[in-house]
Amino acid sequence: MNLRGGCVCGATSYEVKDHPLFTQACHCKNCKISTGSSFVIHTMIFEEDFMLNGKVSSTELPTGSGKGYRAYFCNNCGVYLYCKYAVATGRLAIRTTTLDNPITPQAHIFIKDKDPWIEISNKEICHDTMYDRDKVWPRDSLKRLKEKTK
Ligand SMILES: [Zn+2]
Ligand SMILES: [Zn+2]
Repeated sequence: MNLRGGCVCGATSYEVKDHPLFTQACHCKNCKISTGSSFVIHTMIFEEDFMLNGKVSSTELPTGSGKGYRAYFCNNCGVYLYCKYAVATGRLAIRTTTLDNPITPQAHIFIKDKDPWIEISNKEICHDTMYDRDKVWPRDSLKRLKEKTK
């Protein structure tokens, strides 16, 4: 079944044709500011699997790594829907809270900036900053990524 989601006013919605590569929560300071929350949860997909209905606007923002990303917002209500990282060619990161059925994160990154009152019970999926993708992503996702980017 395709993943579906959208903004809060209903002007913008989307559909994803294939299952995501990976889902992660980021606790870095920039993600907190841009979401107005304690962390963002992003689901990584291939750009070609993404179908957008409605109009979005976008802007360039900084990342914890310093490389930057472009964030996309509903043109009407301004909800932050998805983004494209400068380092992730051909991929999108959907903000999972905009999905009809949100996905549980497989990793938590930038734990060093995590709000102290948040307790994550599964310490094995927590990373101080960024992780090594080859060690953390499921084998199937690494294989799909390799096939698409070669
Ligand atoms: Zn972040
Ligand atoms: Zn909207």
